[in-house]
Amino acid sequence: MATKDLHLEGAPFLKQQTTGLYKPAGSESLAAAAERSTKSNREITDAIPHWQDWREAAHRIKAYAIANLDKLLVQFERNISARGATVLFANDAAEANQYVLDIAREHNVKRVAKGKSMVSEEMELNRTLAAAGIRAVETDLGEYIVQLAGQRPTHIVTPALHLSAADVGRLFSDKLGEPFSEEHENLTNIARRHLREEFLQADMGMSGANFAIADTGTLAIVENEGNVGLSTSTPPVHVVLMGMEKVIPRIDHLPVFLQLLARVGTGQKLTSYTHLIHGATPGRKLYVIILDNGRSRILQDPAARKALCCIRCGMCLNICPVYRRVGGWAYGWVYPGPIGSIITPHLVGLDKAGTLPFASSLCGACSEVCPVKIDIPHQLGHLRKRAIEEPSPAHSIIDRVTWKAWAWAMCGPKRYRLAMWAVRQGVRLAPFLPWHPDKLGAWTRGRELPELPAGPTFRNWWCKPANREQFNTTLNSQSRKRDQV
Ligand code: SF4
Repeated sequence: MATKDLHLEGAPFLKQQTTGLYKPAGSESLAAAAERSTKSNREITDAIPHWQDWREAAHRIKAYAIANLDKLLVQFERNISARGATVLFANDAAEANQYVLDIAREHNVKRVAKGKSMVSEEMELNRTLAAAGIRAVETDLGEYIVQLAGQRPTHIVTPALHLSAADVGRLFSDKLGEPFSEEHENLTNIARRHLREEFLQADMGMSGANFAIADTGTLAIVENEGNVGLSTSTPPVHVVLMGMEKVIPRIDHLPVFLQLLARVGTGQKLTSYTHLIHGATPGRKLYVIILDNGRSRILQDPAARKALCCIRCGMCLNICPVYRRVGGWAYGWVYPGPIGSIITPHLVGLDKAGTLPFASSLCGACSEVCPVKIDIPHQLGHLRKRAIEEPSPAHSIIDRVTWKAWAWAMCGPKRYRLAMWAVRQGVRLAPFLPWHPDKLGAWTRGRELPELPAGPTFRNWWCKPANREQFNTTLNSQSRKRDQV
């Protein structure tokens, strides 16, 4: 089992290498698990007649919330503060970490039980707490496993998707001294036994939030394992970490999101637990830290704003042919897959993550399944354009000149013909040149450069009316057959 340094790598896709393309990081079980999950979740969603109406409703609610974020956040803060919560706004990860440390010092915290939170991954919170001498234990089973393994999550919903039951059995045996087992029930019982002690001894519990509801000042958190319930209610202090885009306007908007999230995230009608937290309970402290960390940069770019509608269901990862092949670590930061490719460049900067938008085949499968209808391929196209136009170390001058030349060649039939002629001559002459196309760096390290076919080109073939007629006849007969089916 590979161990991956927890330190974030600044998000260069595959670190400019292609090795991840044919040696996926982690075990091969990732691709199989992602495919299984996509299939079962789609069977469930396809059987719901009003599924598309739910998606449309969720899209509109989120779009409204993002357009009115300033007002809704203030409304949420006012309402939850009125019931004893303390709300803190953090501009970046460093400020949010400082808030957590200040709270921990004020309450003399030595042990923290953490529920799942992708925002805490953004902040590298565990590292910060460890440096301050505070023990933080992940209590979500998948997060607990990757923390024990010294790894980072490979998926935003199922962090240990890349590990098999046997991998987990060996890990528990190495790190916890438990007898080896690969039975799921045994493994779960081992984790439960060890984690129970953590909940009882924790001085502070932490969690993320799935939704923050403005009109009632309510936090909604969904989960299946009961660990969030224990993290948020057992220790005397509860700290919630959330991105500022989590706010939705009204409590009666919540059901549509709960229906969508459970079905696409885990293939359930509803998650086992839905926690609604309205404020601090008597004798306990509740803090809500709302993180910006680059999200306002997304807001400033009207073409990219919809990326903030994401409800972190993970479905676009499961269906993505690139993610299935390379796994989550290849994306170099907290958010992998298609959603990572569109939000990471905004959050960490195009100069550090300018290659991520190119980590896609633009097949569009992600936007077809996205429960909030984010136009991911368009977002990727927009970021690609920016990555090429804005000078960045992620793209060399050769990249930029190549793309400019390509764009020029595609803008007219004569230019296109000239470019294709030049490419053909280049490939024919290649064996006699000092460099060879087989040495096209990353492109040819993992694949053969195909031979140029002998005979006429497609353009020459297409210019003959008889060929066009034959093509149209075949096409028409195929569509007639399809219609009959
Ligand atoms: S972009 Fe859509 S499909 Fe992907 S995680 Fe976000 S909500 Fe889910």
